[in-house]
Amino acid sequence: MIHFVGAGPGAPDLITVRGKQYLEKADVIIYAGSLVNPELLSYKKEGCEVYNSAKMTLEEVIAVMEQAEKSALTTVRLHTGDPCIYGAIREQMDILDEKKITYDSCPGVSSFCGAASALDLEYTLPDVSQSVVITRMAGRTPVPEKESIESFAAHQATMVVFLSTGMLQDLSRRLIAGGYTADTPAAIVYKATWDDEKTCVCTVGTLAETAKHEDITKTALMIIGDAVTHSNYDRSLLYHPEFTTEYRKGSSPT
Ligand code: SAH
Repeated sequence: MIHFVGAGPGAPDLITVRGKQYLEKADVIIYAGSLVNPELLSYKKEGCEVYNSAKMTLEEVIAVMEQAEKSALTTVRLHTGDPCIYGAIREQMDILDEKKITYDSCPGVSSFCGAASALDLEYTLPDVSQSVVITRMAGRTPVPEKESIESFAAHQATMVVFLSTGMLQDLSRRLIAGGYTADTPAAIVYKATWDDEKTCVCTVGTLAETAKHEDITKTALMIIGDAVTHSNYDRSLLYHPEFTTEYRKGSSPT
């Protein structure tokens, strides 16, 4: 059995209870060493074999899983944040399907949630934005053309940009080309929930200089939109005294 497990954004106590239990029982752990906090490996049992997938190809990862399966061992494939976001899990699962090896998934706290907690943000403020766009810049790996930064910027929804810390000048240019003004609030969150976390609130126009000033070159998320400074939002109707819900009768006659 293979368990795909979300390690959470960094702090070792932000893995789920279920994920931790899988780690404690695993005979083999294959972890994404470029981003997973190695402190999580302290949950492993004695004799557990550990592999760092940062140094491995997909084929090598599968070979380790297959070998473990032949010996009736339990494997944890530990991915950073939540495995469903840029986790390259489907390609592993498709091969496991072909080989008739069973697996399941255990969610984790994605770094975009860790970044919101670092800044105490609500991404979906009433009357500011009710949507979150999770995207990335095209780099060495492409992004479909229909998902350009400009096209998402046109919505003026809250945006969280992954995997793009080295391209901030270009990101700013494209956000502005898409319709954001240069003074739209933005933030850079470096290593959210790690001990060396850094949070910087800036603007769309100052993303690159802020990262340079703070010496941030990787492992960061960029958050764009008025939700970052949380001014001018409406209070929620759900908790308004006049508003009736399934659970509470409001004071308004309508
Ligand atoms: N599955 C992961 C994302 C993997 S892609 C998740 O759900 O978070 C790797 C990118 O995620 C990094 O380049 C960076 O943009 C972002 N990232 C991962 N951990 C982070 C953290 N603790 N703080 C800020 N960004 C992080």
